Order: sequence, then structure tokens, then C-alpha cells
Amino acid sequence: MKFEDFNFVPSLQEGLDTMGFTKPTPIQQEAIPHILAGKDIIACAQTGTGKTASYLLPLLHKIEEEDKSVIDTLILSPTRELALQIDQQIMGLAYFTGCTSIAVYGGGDGFSYEQQKRSLTDGVNIIVATPGRLIAHLTSGTIELKHLKHLVLDEADRMMDMGFYEDIVRIISYLPEKRQNLLFSATMPPKIRSLSKKILIDPVEVNI
Ligand code: AMP
Repeated sequence: MKFEDFNFVPSLQEGLDTMGFTKPTPIQQEAIPHILAGKDIIACAQTGTGKTASYLLPLLHKIEEEDKSVIDTLILSPTRELALQIDQQIMGLAYFTGCTSIAVYGGGDGFSYEQQKRSLTDGVNIIVATPGRLIAHLTSGTIELKHLKHLVLDEADRMMDMGFYEDIVRIISYLPEKRQNLLFSATMPPKIRSLSKKILIDPVEVNI
């Protein structure tokens, strides 16, 4: 199978060509059609399998085809390192598209809250965030997610281990009820199963 078989918008296929991605990995072959079809998914996938592109590609395809004036997708990450890696992958894949993203995370030497606030007023399509800092933006009104269409929980097991359950529930209270939910986790302990029951609707299970 080749990436061309997915019929992504040409601007996205150009990004794939430039990055030298020719063949979809197993998780990409399995997950991309379900995500394009609008299904919720729960995917068990380790780092290194191509899991990030497995959700970024179909989401970027949809955003490129749709209204680019709103925040369309929220990706929650346990750490700022992962948030930055995801944001970098978006910049590569989306290079020839009109889609934009920002990484929103707290602490340390990174982007300051004020810098994040300024970038957000320019308008972005995808927010990649750690839960705590996102809540600060939601409560102060610097981020508005009422038009959100897609929610991704990446490394959900690590987010649960780091005690982010309450934060995730709180973030979800700011989202529209009608949205597509994608949950990725390296392991599937019972707490991930119960999180998925709370958040996902009739999900497809993807196991690689
Ligand atoms: P991930 O599992 O998402 O952390 O991805 C691992 C690495 O594989 C990243 O550096 C990606 O850029 C790269 N990658 C993802 N999908 C593909 C693909 N289909 N072909 C080649 N490299 C890929």
C-alpha cells in the first residue's frame, strides 16, 4: 500500500513526499481509514510505530478541506517534550497546506504564557497542549474551543499516571459534545478502559 491510496489533498501529499514518507506503517494503514470515516478510535500503539502521523494525516486532510478560521483540533500530551515533537511533525506534514498549529505548555524555558496568548490571537487550527497550561488559557478565555471538531489524547496512559484525569475531564467540559475522539495509549490498563468509556462513542479498536 502507498500513501497515494488514501487520496489526501495534494498539499498534504506534497508534505509526505518532502518528508520522504512513502509507505504507511501498520498503525497508519489501520487507523487512517477509520479516522477519515469520522469514527472514534482507541489505539494501542508504542512510540516509534508512526502513531503520531496516523492521526495527524487524516486530521490535516480534513482541516485542509474545511473551514480554516477556527480551532479544529486539540491534541493533549502528557509532557511538553512530546507536545513539541507533535508540533514539529505538524509543521513538516502541513508545510504546503494552509493549516497552522501551536504548542501550549507550562513551565521552564519554553514559550511564555504571554507569547502563547499573542500567537493564539493570530488564529490556529490545531492546538497541541499539556493539560495544566491549557486549563489556564481556557479559564482566562485566551483559548475558545467551542468550534472544536477533533480531540486527540496521545499517550493517554502516561497522562493518567501523571495524575491528569481531573484536568482532562475539566477540559472536556469546555468542548462541544459533538466531536470525534481519538485515544492513543501504549498500554491498556483498566483506568484507560474506563476513561475511554467516558469519552469515546462506539470506538473502533486498533491494535498493532
Ligand atoms: P512516532 O511513532 O509517531 O513517534 O513516529 C516515529 C518516527 O517515524 C517519526 O520520526 C516519524 O517522522 C517517522 N514516521 C512516521 N510515519 C512514517 C512513515 N510512514 N514512513 C517513514 N517514517 C515515518
